[in-house]
Formats: sequence, C-alpha cells, structure tokens
Amino acid sequence: MNPTVTHSVDSDGIGWIVFDDPAARANVFTPAVFADLRAAIAALEAKTVRAVVVLSAKERIFIAGADLKWLSRAPDAATAAAISREGQACFELLARFKAPVVCAIHGACAGGGTEVALASHWRIASDARETVIGLPETTIGTIPGWGGTVRLPRLIGASAALDHILKGALLPAADALRAGLIDEVAPAAELKARAKAVALRLADSAGPTRATPPAAEAAYFDGLRAAVLRKTRGQEPALVAVVDLIAQNAGLPVDAALEAEARVFGEMTAGEVCKNLIHVFFLKEAVKKLTVDAWFPPVAASSVPAPFKKIGVVGAGVMGSGIAQWCAARGHDVVLRDVKPEFVERGLAVIRGVFDESVARKKMTPEAAAVGLARVKATTDWDGFGDCDLVIEAIVENVAAKQALFAELTKVVRPDCVLASNTSALPIEELAATASEPGRTIGVHFFNPVSRMPLVELVLSPHTARGTAERTLAFAKALGKTPVICRSSPGFLVTRVLFFYLNEACLLWEQGVATETLDAALRGWGWPMGPMRLIDEVGVDVADFIYGEMAHYFPGRFEGATICRRMLAAGMKGRKNGASSGFYTYAGAKEALNPAMAQFTPEAKSTLTAAAIIERLNRVMIDETKRVLDAGVLKSADDADFALLMGAGFPAFRGGLMRYAKSMGTI
Ligand code: NAD
Repeated sequence: MNPTVTHSVDSDGIGWIVFDDPAARANVFTPAVFADLRAAIAALEAKTVRAVVVLSAKERIFIAGADLKWLSRAPDAATAAAISREGQACFELLARFKAPVVCAIHGACAGGGTEVALASHWRIASDARETVIGLPETTIGTIPGWGGTVRLPRLIGASAALDHILKGALLPAADALRAGLIDEVAPAAELKARAKAVALRLADSAGPTRATPPAAEAAYFDGLRAAVLRKTRGQEPALVAVVDLIAQNAGLPVDAALEAEARVFGEMTAGEVCKNLIHVFFLKEAVKKLTVDAWFPPVAASSVPAPFKKIGVVGAGVMGSGIAQWCAARGHDVVLRDVKPEFVERGLAVIRGVFDESVARKKMTPEAAAVGLARVKATTDWDGFGDCDLVIEAIVENVAAKQALFAELTKVVRPDCVLASNTSALPIEELAATASEPGRTIGVHFFNPVSRMPLVELVLSPHTARGTAERTLAFAKALGKTPVICRSSPGFLVTRVLFFYLNEACLLWEQGVATETLDAALRGWGWPMGPMRLIDEVGVDVADFIYGEMAHYFPGRFEGATICRRMLAAGMKGRKNGASSGFYTYAGAKEALNPAMAQFTPEAKSTLTAAAIIERLNRVMIDETKRVLDAGVLKSADDADFALLMGAGFPAFRGGLMRYAKSMGTI
C-alpha cells in the first residue's frame, strides 16, 4: 500500500515530511498514518538533516484531525487512552527531533493537525482562505489528546489556551497568528520557500526562544469551571474536564501532563456524549452527499441541475423578508412582493437590519452587505417576477389564500419557474392544486429566524418532478442550509413533532404544572429553552393556530390545549407583542414570570417530578416521530434526528431523539 506520509532530503540538507493520503481527499490520522509518520521520522533521524519541514500535499486540507470513525469505535476508556498515548508518543518524536522542525500549514488544520504543528518548533501558515487552525475536539465531546492540552497552555498561557479549546473554533491564519498559535503567515504561493528559509535559519541558530506565558491563578480556574458548569449544566463533561486538566497540569513536567491528558481523553472519548456528538457530526456530513435518489425511480444518467439565479419571494413578513435577505446575501437577485407599500417597507427594513447585524458581527464587510441589500428589489406588483427561476411564497398560513396565489403566480412566471411554498404545515398538493404543471411545485420550509436556523425541509408532493427536487436541493445546499427531504404530509416532521410536544406541555400546564417547573425540567435535560418560553418565542398566536391545524389533520389523536387560545383572547401573543404578554415578561434584562398569567391559573396543582415531565414529553415526541417514519414521510430515523437537532434545538449531546429512544430501550 502507498504510504500516507512520505519523506525526502533535499540538496540543502532539509528533510521533508509530506502528508498525502493517496486514497482520500483529506489527510486524517489513523493507525496506518501514525505508522507511516513514525517510519518517516525514523528514516530522517537516521540521515544527516539540518532541519525538517512538515507539510501536506492536499490543496484544501492540511490535516483534518483524527479519523472519527476510529475514535468512535473505542469500546472503553483504556482503549481510547491508548489511542492518545500512541499519538502523543509519535508527536514527541517530532518535538524531540535532533534538528528543528518547521510545520508549514496550508488548508484546514484541525485537532491532530494542530497538535502536529504544536509539537513542531516553528509554525508558518499560508494566508489562503482555506487555511484555518484550531482544536475543535470539545465540539465532539472530547479533549485534545495528542499533546494539545499540554503544549498550547505552555505556548500561549492557560487562559488563552482554554479560551480556544472551550470554543473549539478554527481560526483564519491572521487570527491564529494574533493568538500566538502560529509564528508566521506567508502568501500561499511562497509557503514552501518561506518554510525552507526559516528551517535553514533555525538550523544555524540555537532554535527559537520563547517567553514563558503568564501563569493563571487558581481563582481563574475555579471561576471558569463554575461558569462552564452553569452553562452546560454538567451535561458536557469534556468542557469541565479540560478546565480541570489544564489547571492540574500547570506545574507538571510534560511527560506527567501528557499522561494525565491521555487518561482524561480516554474517559471522554469512550463516553456517551462524545459518541453522540460524533454521530451528529456524521449526520451533518451526510447532508453534503444528500441526493433525491431515494425518492424517485432510478434514472439512466444524472445531470447537473440548472441552478436558480433569480428568486421571487411573495410576502414580506417575518419569513419572506428573512428568506429574501438570505438569498440576496448568497448572491441571488431577489424580487420581494407584498400587498401594501408599508408592508414592503417594513420587510426591507428587516432585511437592512439583518445585513447590519452581519456587519456588526463581522460576518460580512459593509461593502458586501451594501451589494447584498441592493440585490433586493421590492414591489407591490408582479414586476420582476417574469424572469424568476424560483418563487417562494411566504404569505399567511391559509389554504385558500395560498391557492389563490398559486393560481395568480402561474400567470406571471415562466413555465419552467419552480413554485415553492414556505408553509410550516400545510400539504403542498393542497396549496398547489391551482398551479399549472404541478411537477414544478415543492415545499421549502425555512425556519425562523432564517439567518440563524440551518434546517430547510424540502417537501415533495406526489406531483413534484425529480428535476424540481434536484434543483431545489442544490439551491438549499448552495445557500449553506442543511436540507432534509420529506414527503408532503401535515406538519412534515418538525412542525408536527414540535407542536405535539408544545401542546403536551400546555396540557401539563393546564393540569397544574407551573411554567417554571416545566421549563426548568426541559432546560435541565439539555434544551436551550423550555417549552413555555419557546411558545412565547414562536408566538402564542402561531402555537394556537398550529394546534388548530394539528387537530384538523389528526382528529381524535391531537387533543388541543386551550391555554394559548385564552391568552390570545386576552391580547397576549408572547414575546412578539411587547413586554408583558406571554408566559413571561421581557421588560428587564432577563425574562420574568408574567404575573398576568395568574388569571388562567388552573385549580389543580401537580406534583410531577422533572423526570416524569421529561418522560412524558419525550414519549409524545418519540411516538409522533415513529408515526411520521411509519408513514414514510421521512426515509430514516437519522433524518428525523437530524431535522429535530437542526430545526428544533434538540440537544446535540443526546445524539438525536430516536437514537436516544433506542439507547433507552423505548423503541
Ligand atoms: P407574516 O404574517 O409575518 O407575513 C405574511 C406576509 O404576507 C404579510 O406581510 C402579508 O401582508 C403578506 N401577504 C399576504 N397575502 C399576500 C399576497 N397575496 N401577496 C403578497 N403578500 C401577501 O407571516 P410569516 O410568519 O412570515 O409566515 C409566512 C409563511 O411562512 C406562513 O405560511 C407560515 O406558516 C410560514 N412559516 C412561518 C414561520 C414563523 O416562525 N413565523 C416559520 C416557518 C414557516
């Protein structure tokens, strides 16, 4: 088998170690790669070399880290700790190499890639966009295990190191330089030559001298530990463990610190949370390869779908303006229509606000935001719809209104223009019954707020043509969203399961379980917010409306709670209409229980425990998801898990609803 790591020595006595797995697009660490790296280091150790340069021959990826399949198979902590020791020992060979080692980074350098760099004596990175550097292990529920927790604090100080490790972000080269993760940035075309020059310089010197970074006080670690525990409620053990580890390792010799790292890495990697988060990582990866093939009869040859360029959006409300902004930000020309000039203006103001926010959060330059905003043309007419490739309607959730709109649309758009609905729950074939050529109709269900929520449900009606589905899937991916494909059915997956869950929470409320008890139970289980707080966020009106839709489509099975209707009658719509109109009030910095809810307080008082509340609400979601799967609305339980993770905020560290249910033996 061809080696994944090769070595050579040039005429100036510089040894070269090159990572280039011939069988893969990315370099990742596997047992075979470690064996090849060891062999390359040993071969150079046996030769006369003045210095060594480590680099990758891949165009976009330096080293992506460990092979996560390998890590996730570790059956126990001892096996995972052995994986850590194997990598540590290999990188120690670089750290203790007889001559200086320079790491030349071009492309993504994550986890083990960064640990190779840290074990080297000098780090130089290319200024290319694809060069990003960091230690993202905590995002998959473990810690850096190949020396990262030992070397980074010794390089930049414990507090800066923990900041990186806890965030788990990958930094562009310029930021990595500022943070001290690397020593130098070079233009991509000059990386190799600059790496060699620095290698020659180091060969002739005593090696780089580095100042000892400031030590952190015990109080700093205690404060950080408490903050992490508060934030994660103790449910993401790696985040707490890495704080403790770096605190304990502060004064230890490197060997002892590495051994402590191996032990903690072993425990974390073999733990449930890490296995769940790696599973979620693979669910996200699978989306990149998602096709419509499972939904249509096979075709002889697949062709590249014609991309949508110009997008029409009808309805400039919450969703329409969000969709228009997102499409424009991703380079589409957009025409946005509403029925009154003031509605259009309000939509444009929202779009401007989202662009401004992107600039404020440094996600976009002011110039790019101005260009994006200029791509949106607004109208109260049909001007500009005649040359759209795709029109997405986001008008009121009403079958008759949407049918009338589809009938009107077919008169103004091209015959090949795809017609999509952003409905949250209505079956597409009902809405599009008035559209000519129903093969071009589809559901594209974005979530609110569009700029933050990654999920898009692509909803296929019995009429949706393969080409329509293919083009829309490619569009959703190009927008940077994570699509899930479902068959048209009331509520698809997320609306249906989420509102069965919210309704059940309302039923419990009506049986005397207090708002704060319900929300604390679910937050404690890992949801970012509890169900009552979530109802305030989506709107009491929206919740009540969807309860009505669910009761209509699932008669006998969906027993609608009445609290939202009663709140609405009292003018309480949740967070959207002011400070004091939901389960909570939002006047202060933090929400507080709304005293006005006292008027609805049920006579019954419930003593349900948090565990019983969680059990009941999970049961409802699991049962409904099972029905969705049995009815063929989705192709797999993984799809359901992924959609609820991306679209409803299901806690990722639990790995997914159905995965959880399986692990508990409840399905
Ligand atoms: P909204 O009430 O904020 O906006 C609807 C807009 O459509 C209004 O500005 C209205 O004037 C306009 N409109 C109505 N009829 C029109 C017509 N014939 N032509 C042009 N404009 C028209 O509603 P929203 O919350 O943005 O929801 C829109 C759609 O998206 C609904 O189908 C809803 O179910 C769905 N959806 C909503 C959310 C959410 O959280 N709000 C999430 C996902 C999907």
